[in-house]
Amino acid sequence: MARKCYGNLIGGRWLPARSGKTFLNRNPADPEDAIGEFQASGAEDVGLAVEAAAKAYRSWRAVPAPRRAEILFRTGELLLKRKEEFARQMTREMGKVLAEARGDVQEAIDTAFYMAGEGRRLFGQTTPSELPSKFAMSVRMPVGVCGMITPWNFPMAIPSWKLFPALVCGNVCVLKPAEDTPLSAIHLVETLMEAGLPDGVANIVTGFGPDAGAPLAAHPGVRAVSFTGSSEVGRLVGLTAAGEFKPCSLEMGGKNAMIVLEDANLDLALEGALWGAFGTTGQRCTATSRIILERGIADEFTRRLVQRAAALRVGNGLDESVEMGPQINLQQLETSERYTAIASREGAQLLTGGVRLGGELAKGFYFAPTVFTGVQPQMRIAREEVFGPLVSLIECDGFEQAVEIANGIDYGLSTALYSRDVNRALKAVRDLEAGITYINAPTIGAEVHLPFGGVKQTGNGHREGAGAIDFYTAWKSVYLDYSDRLQRAQIDTPD
Ligand code: ADP
Repeated sequence: MARKCYGNLIGGRWLPARSGKTFLNRNPADPEDAIGEFQASGAEDVGLAVEAAAKAYRSWRAVPAPRRAEILFRTGELLLKRKEEFARQMTREMGKVLAEARGDVQEAIDTAFYMAGEGRRLFGQTTPSELPSKFAMSVRMPVGVCGMITPWNFPMAIPSWKLFPALVCGNVCVLKPAEDTPLSAIHLVETLMEAGLPDGVANIVTGFGPDAGAPLAAHPGVRAVSFTGSSEVGRLVGLTAAGEFKPCSLEMGGKNAMIVLEDANLDLALEGALWGAFGTTGQRCTATSRIILERGIADEFTRRLVQRAAALRVGNGLDESVEMGPQINLQQLETSERYTAIASREGAQLLTGGVRLGGELAKGFYFAPTVFTGVQPQMRIAREEVFGPLVSLIECDGFEQAVEIANGIDYGLSTALYSRDVNRALKAVRDLEAGITYINAPTIGAEVHLPFGGVKQTGNGHREGAGAIDFYTAWKSVYLDYSDRLQRAQIDTPD
């Protein structure tokens, strides 16, 4: 059967990469199943996309925001219609179980409707002037061509977090999706086009990070860069953007802690732990990778967690009875293997998992749900992001120590506390150093209309979701003087 070959979308046309090179995208559940052939783009393709975007910017920025929003609204409606089809193709492309792939498409739908609403807000401020007969206000301006570099773990949701707010604000975009999941990103952009987005307003250039991502971040015509991915690459992108003084939003790693206190509803905490640690095969930036247990419940919780983790149904995510799919690629699988060895060397005890799965699953990138106990906060397995189905259990003596352990890392994305004590819940909200804190819910489950992002090395201070409008606009302060005379601020003051 002829394999489908997908182009880059540049200025409304599907084009091959200038180099003529393509790459294969494979199903992580069965790498022999090729999803399709995609363009291995380089700097030249990026340049063409930026040029096409810049051309489209002239007219797109002049379209009234409520009209731009209508296109997003239609995009949301079309995504809703295609949800099942896109979700199935996403599972095949990325491996996450079907229920979660549906959730990923749903997140794009939610973002479309939320950002469509912004078209009639995009509020600025009006404020009194210090001078008479003078009117003062601030308005939001688009920034121009925005470059977006996205990871594979939320193949449609994350591109939507960047594209939709940027577009409603009047920007034009060049998206470089992850090389492991270009199809879901293409589905998203195709849907935008079908909803009526003019040619050139959103462009997509597929390919590998150093070849296509790096030139996008560096391109002088790109006025703002938004990146989600590893801290290592985020640092490179951030340094590149800084050289040109470009606003740059970096959303990176996490080592997210769930604290379970002795007064917690243990059944609830257990469900949360399983979902948080093994949902998306542990490959979420908000995945629960540390569980800090108050000593009194540690043994029981550990025993029950291990039992449940070992019983999780692992397999092809297209099978509705499967609870955990494969890892995205061989490299990620090997990272899980490497950290299993590191944790064992450091003295942690492996209670279940720690191995690649064989038998029928041998052809895919499957790693067993893995639980370590006896983990000390200074161990690498307790501090470094793995991005796999591995969770570390750390015992503590009470709430204060739990918070100290939770905060004792370089990352600060998500945190969770399980307790029935309202005072401790509020202290956790106050004291946990993270962009997100859940009470009696796992570390995953962000909703699109709240700010999303983290502190410390998780990010560089920007937020997606509710914070995205601030990133994709620049403020302009406007003064209208209707006094018909020169008035001098700070000088013409009453004696
Ligand atoms: P992950 O661990 O999720 O794969 P990466 O940081 O490696 O995270 O990748 C996230 C995105 O960054 C992908 O789209 C990838 O192609 C891109 N990328 C990788 N290397 C670079 C680079 N040097 N410059 C710009 N983008 C890059």
